[in-house]
Amino acid sequence: MKKLGIIVPYRDRLEHLKKFIPHIREHLKTQNIENYKIVVVEQLDEQSFNRAKLMNIGYDVLKDECDYFCFHDIDLLPEKGADYSWVDNPTHLSQYCSQFNYRMPDYNNGKIFGGVVMFNKTDFNKVNGFSNIMWGWGGEDDEIRSRCDREGLTVDRRPNRYTSLPHKHAKVNRDEYQNNFKEWVNIRDDEESKDYQTNGINSLEYKVAQIKHGLEYSLIKVIL
Ligand code: UDP
Ligand code: MN
Repeated sequence: MKKLGIIVPYRDRLEHLKKFIPHIREHLKTQNIENYKIVVVEQLDEQSFNRAKLMNIGYDVLKDECDYFCFHDIDLLPEKGADYSWVDNPTHLSQYCSQFNYRMPDYNNGKIFGGVVMFNKTDFNKVNGFSNIMWGWGGEDDEIRSRCDREGLTVDRRPNRYTSLPHKHAKVNRDEYQNNFKEWVNIRDDEESKDYQTNGINSLEYKVAQIKHGLEYSLIKVIL
């Protein structure tokens, strides 16, 4: 039976963590998914948050143990029936979120790929994971979506519904956002580009400060 790895990027969202863990566990039970492991990857350092690199670290920790991987924002709680079974293709799971009145935002030419996504191991290796160098809010989800295009992968979407937990919106640093945007657009617009094949899980470097293996999830504290 295929094993699911759930990877949650995390820093300073304790209230969300307390809700997310019991919720997802209960949800997976209703989905009859028993073979899974949850890893919360916490950024310990004070640098800007790097969601994409935390995702890669979670993958690195679980890659020998799991067959498919769900990269999951902590503030999205799956609602009844949300499908977490095996994916044949990269798949966007969080199509309908309460924060958008359960409508898919009209964004990136219908290629929205934020929130909750899933890859099987083969496909995540093909795209070389996420970029490691996208600091601060924004762009990393679109960037990996473009990696899928560059690799000629079909991308699927599931009509799952999610309850969004409220939070203060991150302060967006303009320079960081512009850098991230540039990274993404390079891959999006240059069909010949293979730059991403040297920036991702094959170039990942990080320090583990602490690992706690709990019964319900593992917490990996890292320095990026
Ligand atoms: N996140 C976090 N701490 C932060 C910023 C982000 O734990 O300070 C994680 C968390 O899993 C969150 C995800 O990164 O759900 C996406 O960030 P955020 O919710 O701020 O993005 P937005 O909702 O604005 O797209
Ligand atoms: Mn959020």
